[in-house]
This record gives sequence, structure tokens and C-alpha cells, in this order.
Amino acid sequence: MTGRDHRDLGGPTEKCGVVGVSLDERAAARPLYYALYALQHRGQESAGIVTHDGFQQHSHVEMGLVGDAFGEDDLDQLNGPVGIGHVRYPTAGSVNACCAQPFSVSFKSGSLGLSHNGNLVNADEIRDELAGLGHAFTSDGDTEVIAHDLARNLLEEDLVRAVKRTMSRIHGSYSLTIMHDDTVLGVRDPEGNRPLCIGEVDDGYLLASESAAIDVLDGELVRDVEPGELVILRPDGEGFDAYQLFDRENSAHCFFEHVYFARPDSTIDDQLVYDVRRDLGRALWAESGVDTDVVMPVPDSGRAFASGYADAAGEDGADVEFAEGLMKNRYVGRTFIMPTQDARERAVRLKLNPIKDIVQDRTVTLIDDSIVRGTTSTQLVQLMRDVGAEAVHVRIGAPPIVAPCYMGIDMASREELIAADRTTEEIGEEISADSLEYLSIESVAGALDQSRADLCLGCVTGEYPYDIDGETTDRDVERPTIGSEPAAADD
Ligand code: AMP
Repeated sequence: MTGRDHRDLGGPTEKCGVVGVSLDERAAARPLYYALYALQHRGQESAGIVTHDGFQQHSHVEMGLVGDAFGEDDLDQLNGPVGIGHVRYPTAGSVNACCAQPFSVSFKSGSLGLSHNGNLVNADEIRDELAGLGHAFTSDGDTEVIAHDLARNLLEEDLVRAVKRTMSRIHGSYSLTIMHDDTVLGVRDPEGNRPLCIGEVDDGYLLASESAAIDVLDGELVRDVEPGELVILRPDGEGFDAYQLFDRENSAHCFFEHVYFARPDSTIDDQLVYDVRRDLGRALWAESGVDTDVVMPVPDSGRAFASGYADAAGEDGADVEFAEGLMKNRYVGRTFIMPTQDARERAVRLKLNPIKDIVQDRTVTLIDDSIVRGTTSTQLVQLMRDVGAEAVHVRIGAPPIVAPCYMGIDMASREELIAADRTTEEIGEEISADSLEYLSIESVAGALDQSRADLCLGCVTGEYPYDIDGETTDRDVERPTIGSEPAAADD
């Protein structure tokens, strides 16, 4: 075990939203724009769209939120019925214009656009090798590495074989939407760490990180892209072709997508996120329910957990009231990524305000999805006491986060994680709660209807499904050997 931060892996982590669209004749720009709007929660640092009109690419990539990054004129110049889009998640303290996506470039083998969600663990090795072969890189991001590798393979192979060869070299977490000339494709890593799904609209098909992006286009979710699968959208919106390029015995779906990251109205790997969160809340009551006057969610992500928890409590005959006693100021940005502890504490207070009448002289259970540094829960327990709570219990719908995420979720380094070196009891004392309980890993796997072996649990076990320098792995993973020649891919 080391105290390394996820950013030590080289490039910035990418916890993002991706989309790709192939339509009959209609311009792809506006559908892509709406889809990115629906994925805004997956990244607020930058937004971008690249389209292709059959002759050339058109690109618009800007820092900021989707609504600010595009004007009518920008969308008007994004010609063509096919395209890809991206929203990028900010990493702590850094605003990085060089890594805004989609990454687009023209090679001898044609034009390429790439949108990436995830994080490779061997990007540096591949970058070094390709740089040695004369490839010039403009950023330190993973995405450019994938683009160069793919472009090189496309000189010798058809599209499917070239993608397979690149997939056999890159190791880590990736859901990609790619545009090669005017063909849009989607790829999910062999462990299926990040989500990616296929949707159908009136005049074509799309690929998106989450099904909520399909809903806003009045489309239908067709299915998830399988781990290790390549999906190529046919031109003219005529359907898609799927190629299962890699088969692994186990997947490594990120459980935190369901717990925190994804929208509750999205269906990921066949499960509605809202239902999973309600089930996690129910399991939390079953494992460690405490009878209090009122059960309160920490908005927004604690809501579904708290409603499941309160329902289960009611069914058990507990006389608990479910109340939204904490109001959120929706204009305050994310507290989590603020650079200093002082700023984070101030921001929690700005963001969440208690309703005194609901809390005063009553016992309260606060329900949240996770504790990372402990800033939010420490502040909220104190706030509850300030407005007269008799007792404050805290219940968390996930296990303690004890280790960093190397697969793209910005979760702070080991030193900053409150649970990295404390027992639950010690954390309870640290946040001054009357009691604190987390949910077990078994209940998480149960609510997700997955075996433990098919989940990435790195942040709650410290054991990862990928081969990461200096960390322990929880399975037999084979890290690709990067040689001066790309490893041959089987047909
Ligand atoms: P903390 O205050 O550091 O303990 O963070 C916990 C709060 O941040 C919880 O209310 C979570 O909903 C939220 N949270 C958890 N993970 C993340 C993340 N990766 N990015 C932003 N917020 C998060």
C-alpha cells in the first residue's frame, strides 16, 4: 500500500460523460448538445462536440458548462449527421484546457475524434513507445495516446482489427465514443468499468454514458454496450454492428456509479440507478437501522437512500418521519473540489441549510451516500445540533472509502480520506455523531444484483481489478506488454 494519489498515474483522471450519434440526414449537433446537457453531472469543466459532414470534421470545444460552451452559431457550424461529444470532470485544483475533449486530429489514415471516460493505467508506457516512433503529443492525457495508437493501427488494419489491436495494448478503464471519418463507434473496456449504452431515436442511433441522454432525445434504450464490445453505428442511421472483441471471466463495474455518480433516472447495466439506491437504503435499515423521530436525506444524492431506508423502517413498525429538513441552494457549485478545507467548509454551509422546526428537540438520522473527507458530515452534524437536535445519527449507503480511485473518480488521496486509517467508531467520534454506520460490501453487491467478483471495489477494499503500480490487485489481471511493435491482435 502506498499513499499515492490517483493523479500520480500520469495523465489527469477522466471521470466524464461521452456521447456519439449517427443520424440519417438531420444535423447531429443539437441532439449531441441536448445529450451533453443530460450528462452535465458527469463533468462541468469543459464541453465539446465534433461532427463530420462526409468531407471534413467540425469541432467546438470550450471550457465551462454545456449551456455556456455553445451558442446558436457554434451549433450551426457543426455540420453533418454524425458526431461525438464530451463533458469533462474537473480534477481537484486544476483547470486544464489542454485536456478538454473530444480530442480530434487528422492522420494519414483519416480523421479521428475521441471522447474518453475512464482512466488508463499504462498510458505513459504507450506514450513513451509511440513518442520513440516519432508521434508528437500535445497533451499528457490518455485520450491522445489512444488516438495515436489507433491511428497507427488504422494504417495497417481495417477498423475492427485496428480497434482490437489498440484494446489489446491499453489497460485500465475506458468507455469511448470514437469518430473515424464519418463512422461513429463505441467501445467499453473488457472489464466494463464505466457505463456505455446504445439508444435508438427516430432517425438513427446513439451511444451514451447514461440512458438519461437517450431519454432527452425521446429515444429508446436498446441495451448496454457489453464489456469488451465494439459497437459501430451504421451511416444513415440504419442500425449498428456489434463485435465482442474481448471476453473476460469477470467484469469490474464501478459500484460508485450507482451509489453516487450516475443520475438516478439512468439505467446502467440493466438496473435503474434509483431502484438500486432505494434498495441500498432498505439494506441500510436492515443492517443498522436506528429508531429516531425523523429520517433526513443529505440532498441530492442521499434522497433515494433515505426514502428506501424510511420505507423499510415503516414496514418494520418504526414510527419515523421522512422529512426533507435540509435545503440545498442549487446555485452553489460542488463543495468537494474546492482547493482548501476552509473553502470546503464554508461551501457546505452555503449549500445546505436546515429547517429548524423539523429538527428542534427531535432525534435525527442523516442519510448520505458516502463520506469522503468527512467535511460534509462533520458540518451537518454540528448544524443539526445548532438548531436543537436531541441526537444525530448518521447512516451511509456505501462502505467506508479507504483508498483512492485510480479509475477516474476524483476521490482524494489516501491521506485525505477520513476512513483510510480510522475505524467506523473513530470516524463517528471525529464527526461528533451519536452513532455512525456504513453499509457492508455484501449488501452493495446484493442491491446491484452482482457478485463481488464482478465489481470494482478498489476504493472500499484497497484491492483493484487492474494492475496498478504499488497497489494490490484482487484478481488475475494480465497487464499488456508494450513492445516496440504493437502486439498482434487475433482475428
Ligand atoms: P466529504 O465532505 O469529503 O466527506 O464528501 C462527501 C460528500 O461528497 C457526500 O455528500 C457525497 O455525496 C459527495 N461525494 C462523494 N464522492 C464524490 C465525488 N467523487 N465527487 C464529488 N462529490 C462526492
